[in-house]
Amino acid sequence: MIRIFILFLFTTSLFSAHVEHFRWVDGETYLDFLQRVELPIKTLYYNLDKDDQRLTEEMRTGVHCQILKDTNNVIKQALLPLNDELQIHIYKQNGSYHFEAIPIISVTKTEAFTLRIEHSPYLDIIKETGSKKLAQIFVANFRHSLNFKNDLRKGDTLAMIYDQKYRLGEPFSMPVLKSAMIELHGKKHFIYLNDDERYYDEKGHEVEGFLLARPVRGARISSYFTKRRWHPVLHKWKAHLGVDYAARRGTPIVAAGSGVIIYAKRMGTYGKLIKIRHADGYETRYAHLKSFRRGIRRGKRVKKGQTIGYVGTTGRSTGPHLHFELRKHGRAINPLRVVQVTTKKLKGKQMKAFKKLRDNYNQSIELHLANNTRYKKPKETDKVCYFFDKSCSTKVN
Ligand SMILES: [Zn+2]
Repeated sequence: MIRIFILFLFTTSLFSAHVEHFRWVDGETYLDFLQRVELPIKTLYYNLDKDDQRLTEEMRTGVHCQILKDTNNVIKQALLPLNDELQIHIYKQNGSYHFEAIPIISVTKTEAFTLRIEHSPYLDIIKETGSKKLAQIFVANFRHSLNFKNDLRKGDTLAMIYDQKYRLGEPFSMPVLKSAMIELHGKKHFIYLNDDERYYDEKGHEVEGFLLARPVRGARISSYFTKRRWHPVLHKWKAHLGVDYAARRGTPIVAAGSGVIIYAKRMGTYGKLIKIRHADGYETRYAHLKSFRRGIRRGKRVKKGQTIGYVGTTGRSTGPHLHFELRKHGRAINPLRVVQVTTKKLKGKQMKAFKKLRDNYNQSIELHLANNTRYKKPKETDKVCYFFDKSCSTKVN
């Protein structure tokens, strides 16, 4: 649909156009951007509905954006990625500008490489690939099980198999680690991304913590879990069965763990509330939200770290903050005690399926080691046009 539409726009255009690339400027808002490039604020912001207006708040520093201009330097289209799934598409049609949020079309490739360790896995991966992201996912996923500092020996090897998304021929978004191996003192350690989206070691033990340390990035804890506390609004003693994170209104809230949304609407003093059910009888709750993220509703599966809503002060609340609760079999427990403690061990049928997956990855890692597979830089020729345009390929990827 998008393809046809963009094609249509350009077959009616008489002049050749050019694409300008830029990265989203630090601290710039969507409104700043419109003003800077002289696009109409009324049609492209104030006339939008609330959901679309909120989407525009998601622009993040450093994101690669594109603007298509005609020969008179007039903006014909702009693509502004909001995340790895959705982008803002601004386009000019019949003399006026329009706004829409459209999916990002990307291609996922499975890639692999091995290398010999000279300094540390982090530095060596960056040196080999030029990618901080690859270094980060490698180190993050071994963090809880291994101590690189003490056990590493020069000349040990590591191997990584991962999925990389490409948008318009360029690596895009966070790669997903599928399997990795690191040798420490000649002994090989593996991790595998299982079908349940969790990481396990060779024995089928989960290797990362079940809950994220904080559901709001960079937020300060303003109130701790306690079974008894003074309530400043109600002027009476109350239990505080969660942890409060003070943050500015609109700050994104992420799922502390993977699971299924079982509640996403208003609930009395909680205000706008999200409940997520996790494995092993755990449930997390996120209260006083300003709003839910688009698409967040009952029955939806979410991944650890995925944005689910925004900090607000709905319900009984004295100011913008997230009230975060963790419950096990319905009973509130102190979230700060559980962080990165609970892990899962595979059994029975799940274990059988995991062993098959593990053996496949082992085989492929052995092959990469034997072949000494090196990191391949994305080919320049893979580059395609961002918009449909006569001066370049007709492919809109
Ligand atoms: Zn609270």
